[in-house]
Amino acid sequence: MKNRISLGYGSGGRLTRDLIKDLFLKNFDNPLLSKLSDSAVFDLHGEKVAVTTDSYVINPIFFPGGDIGKLSVCGTVNDLAVVGAAPLYITLGMIIEEGFPYKDLENITASIKNAAEGIGIKVITGDTKVTEKGKTDGIYINTTGIGVVDTDIKLGMDKIEKGDKIILSGNIGDHGIAVLSKREGFKFESDIESDCAPLNTLIYSAIRAGRIKFMRDPTRGGLAAVLNEITEEGNFEITVKEEEIPVDDRVMGACSILGLDPVYIANEGKVVMVVKPDDAAKILSAVRRDPLGANAAIIGEVTDSKGNSVYLETIYGSLRRIDMPLEDPLPRIC
Ligand code: MG
Repeated sequence: MKNRISLGYGSGGRLTRDLIKDLFLKNFDNPLLSKLSDSAVFDLHGEKVAVTTDSYVINPIFFPGGDIGKLSVCGTVNDLAVVGAAPLYITLGMIIEEGFPYKDLENITASIKNAAEGIGIKVITGDTKVTEKGKTDGIYINTTGIGVVDTDIKLGMDKIEKGDKIILSGNIGDHGIAVLSKREGFKFESDIESDCAPLNTLIYSAIRAGRIKFMRDPTRGGLAAVLNEITEEGNFEITVKEEEIPVDDRVMGACSILGLDPVYIANEGKVVMVVKPDDAAKILSAVRRDPLGANAAIIGEVTDSKGNSVYLETIYGSLRRIDMPLEDPLPRIC
């Protein structure tokens, strides 16, 4: 019996997916929504248009490597990029708490401007609301992204086959650990920075280098959530090798101190690609040529065309099942 919404329902794991399927999908079901894709892609007068929306409630709003402004641009752009879309425009909805420092709002706005200019997109409409003191925790931001997809780009979980390789674009866990460190005041705080970054250029080069079947950015719930979404939706088995998954030593250290597993920690500048085996090496070099993909690796493959599990081959050679997280271990991470 579900009486109340817990924090876990917003954490991108099993609870979030259950809420979406049991309530939202049941009420709004249509062919575009039911794909549960990062962006909806549809035909509009001969153009393939991509639309996505995301709300940012991160705590703290300023963290090593970024802030809520940069995040609200990059996160949305990345959801466009993973469906193969070139980002064009974003909208900006701000919900601000009474008493919020004007200077902080200026800094957040400057971050949004810098991020948008760097990507080459424009903020084309927005909304501003202010709530009474205590009714919002500082500021929340919603952005909607609009992009276009080249007609020759064909991505989808239905394209995935046994033998396809899994490419991860770099180190996992930086964002989650950076935000948590700042929030909790841990002393490894100054060392680890969020990976918050726009992936559209990296992804564009990768698409041109070889056949990519499917992509998703491992944000809330981390690498584990994305791999499980693929195996569950597509009815596949995936095996990844622990020794191939890039993790910064400092993140690994922080995770062991805190009892966390980096495969469940959120990222904001990484992408998981399922690619045609013959093209994997070419795609990997294209990704590595981008500074954001310098540590990219082929971390595993689709090992069976049935089943729906994700396995991790440990450095000792044993197989460990990686389950879909019930909830992200760290709430309000994006
Ligand atoms: Mg996404």
